[in-house]
Amino acid sequence: MNYYSLHHNSPKVSFKESVIKGLAPDRGIYFPENITPLSEEFILNIDKYSHEEIAFEAIQQFVGDDIPSAILKEIIAETLSFDFPIVPIEDNIGTLELFHGPTMAFKDVGARFMARCLGYFNRDKDENVTVLVATSGDTGGAVANGFLGVKGVEVVILYPSGKVSKIQEKQLTTLGQNITALEVDGVFDDCQDMVKTAFLDKEIERILTSANSINIARWLPQMFYFFFAYKALHKQHPNIVFSVPSGNFGNICAGIMAQKLGLPIQHFIASTNVNDTVLNYLQSGEYAPQKSIATISNAMDVGNPSNFIRIQELYNNDLETIKQHFSSYSFTDDETKKAMKSIYNQYNYISDPHGAVGYLGLKQHNLQDAYGVFLETAHPVKFLPTVESTLNLKLDIPEQIQEIMHKKKEAIQATDYDDLKCFLNK
Ligand SMILES: *Cc1c(COP(=O)(O)O)cnc(C)c1O
Repeated sequence: MNYYSLHHNSPKVSFKESVIKGLAPDRGIYFPENITPLSEEFILNIDKYSHEEIAFEAIQQFVGDDIPSAILKEIIAETLSFDFPIVPIEDNIGTLELFHGPTMAFKDVGARFMARCLGYFNRDKDENVTVLVATSGDTGGAVANGFLGVKGVEVVILYPSGKVSKIQEKQLTTLGQNITALEVDGVFDDCQDMVKTAFLDKEIERILTSANSINIARWLPQMFYFFFAYKALHKQHPNIVFSVPSGNFGNICAGIMAQKLGLPIQHFIASTNVNDTVLNYLQSGEYAPQKSIATISNAMDVGNPSNFIRIQELYNNDLETIKQHFSSYSFTDDETKKAMKSIYNQYNYISDPHGAVGYLGLKQHNLQDAYGVFLETAHPVKFLPTVESTLNLKLDIPEQIQEIMHKKKEAIQATDYDDLKCFLNK
């Protein structure tokens, strides 16, 4: 399978090259040249397949010959070593819990898959690859954990100082080994800009790649759980609407890929906090990136979502087609807290702020006879102060979080791009 740049000004590359490069030389993100739907037979009989078999079917064509099938199957098995349960909330609404991985956020799936692909590609090279990644919260921890100890790979994580939760910060600053954290005096978009600049800087003396959802190997495995949810629900609920709490729009875009592969999904809702660039685009037809605004659902504080261009491509760059299949709703922190309270008081379910934004999207949308699934993208404990003060309760801290809370934070301070460059070239 070949990949082209969505800026259309770079040569096509293989899966392997796209994973190692991350971003095309023209700064465009990569997109697969062909998307061949899976057989109807497979979709109809999805119940008969295991999660691992489904994942292999979904992703095999995108990997092609770059990884032998037997190894790809191993990578998938190691990636999917945890559960993806659906918890019913209301009669016609359930939540797909994606936080049962090692860092308790959905990003574990993509990060673990990508780390193993890169480890395979790098298996007998002498030169290290540096994974450079900007995080608004959960990416850093998932990438750090997924790549910890992977041979030949160094990881450098940029995060906005004071804008990630304490647990998130611990998860990305305490691992050591091949993982380094840079604490940036700025917001997420500043971190992302610094990363993008580094990729283009010819004076950087390292091989750089990204592990944000712009990277194909981080992005595509996120298709899997839409298939798993469909498998679990379709007998009882043939019409499914997914509401995806969205920031960089990688997760929802992977859902749309699953739909392209033939998975019958009725509609997508991109639920956002007040960072509503996409909602504005749907309303005005004009895509105008904004500076990101800090909210209680901080992993979605993104003013210029990198993956939206992939969604436009998937819908043939046609606004009307996008609107037919895809809606977006935006919610304030007050609305989010109210939703967390009502989900807890009425249904005895503790949602994190991101999940609550997803829930609100379903409530805002006219579901008619469809079943709504909102993605619970992180365990509530990762947003401990917000959840505890909003719901007036104390959360139990899971063991894997307790362990890191005692560890010492190690981060390098950075104020601008020069600090990053200096660090990379030292
Ligand atoms: C990253 C993240 C999101 C947003 O996902 P995108 O793919 O960037 O849209 C939502 N919720 C949580 C908890 C996250 O970590």
